[in-house]
Amino acid sequence: MIPYGRQSISQEDIHAVIEVLRSDFLTQGPTVPKFEKAIADYCGAAHAVAVNSATSALHIACLALGAGPGDHVWTSANTFVASANCARYCGAETDFVDIDPQTYNICPVKLADKLVEAEKSGTLPKIVIPVHIAGQSCDMTAIHVLAQQYGFRVIEDASHAIGGSYQDIKIGACRYCDITIFSFHPVKIITTGEGGMALTNNSELAWKMQLLRSHGITREPDRLENPPEGPWYYEQQMLGFNYRMIDIEAALGLSQMARLDAFVERRNAIARQYDRLLADLPLRIPTTTAGNVSSFHLYVVRTKSGQPGPDHRTVFERLRAAGIGVNLHYMPVYLQPDFVRLGFAPGLCPEAEKYAQSAISIPMFPGLTDETVRETVAALAIAVVP
Ligand SMILES: *Cc1c(COP(=O)(O)O)cnc(C)c1O
Repeated sequence: MIPYGRQSISQEDIHAVIEVLRSDFLTQGPTVPKFEKAIADYCGAAHAVAVNSATSALHIACLALGAGPGDHVWTSANTFVASANCARYCGAETDFVDIDPQTYNICPVKLADKLVEAEKSGTLPKIVIPVHIAGQSCDMTAIHVLAQQYGFRVIEDASHAIGGSYQDIKIGACRYCDITIFSFHPVKIITTGEGGMALTNNSELAWKMQLLRSHGITREPDRLENPPEGPWYYEQQMLGFNYRMIDIEAALGLSQMARLDAFVERRNAIARQYDRLLADLPLRIPTTTAGNVSSFHLYVVRTKSGQPGPDHRTVFERLRAAGIGVNLHYMPVYLQPDFVRLGFAPGLCPEAEKYAQSAISIPMFPGLTDETVRETVAALAIAVVP
């Protein structure tokens, strides 16, 4: 089965990991801060806080922005569950905004409509989490204007999107948000095995997230609440977690960084190949909005409704049977059983529901060969035949 996504590991990556294994520090050593600095510099952000997953990064980002019981946190209906769960970990309530039918990202117009209603009912969100689906940035200037108007904070879930840019600014620069988070899961653009990072230009937010990822503990002399009682002294200043990234992971990430631009270029080249080869099939191919460079974490095609031909599920099953490991990104989060139990029901976000009944992620990763691209297209051509 050809997977939809796969890591690309070089001999250099392997050497970098082995070097850390032979060094004094497997964790809490010098490689994590080196990796943080490399990502912060690449993106043009002031601070980067490495953690053990993007899920952890979302959690501590919400906490650093003060999310708690009684607060509302909104995200896109079309995302991985983690973008919504982070609010629930904090005791806040989660809600969903429908997507734009062209980009499949959170729709600023629907966000604006929902804010008008929320203002009337006194349920305005404290945080909104736009998700850069497939690697293409959301309409961040529009979201930023709404954030100013309604006073909410913004976390960009850029799990798909490192290496991409928006209006010539690298995703992760935090120009239009408080915090941006990345994932380094093996299917994402670069990997650390498991891992994530939170970027910000706000030093207090960075400080809070550094505390939260490591038990709420600090040894920083300038930050202590009480005079140190000895050289062993440290303070727990808030309830934190062990969400630390280890140096073995950071070594892999740092080594992968050297190929980040090449990965994104290769993904874009594959996307252009798919665009060309799929043009004549009865499928909708992805669109990239002017001003965006997508990192193409995913290449999502959509079956067209109202045409003779097999339904979405049949196309899916035919492709899987042909050895193409297609996937759905994503079923609307609020239709997951655990969210339905909270009271969510079908009909909340019609565009996201339509999308989920037509979207197919086809193989997309840097190691994909031109031949496999052609094989995938050939399998698709057969799968869509009535
Ligand atoms: C992968 C992903 C996450 C979670 O990332 P982990 O590093 O696996 O915790 C969160 N949000 C989105 C949109 C993702 O795709």
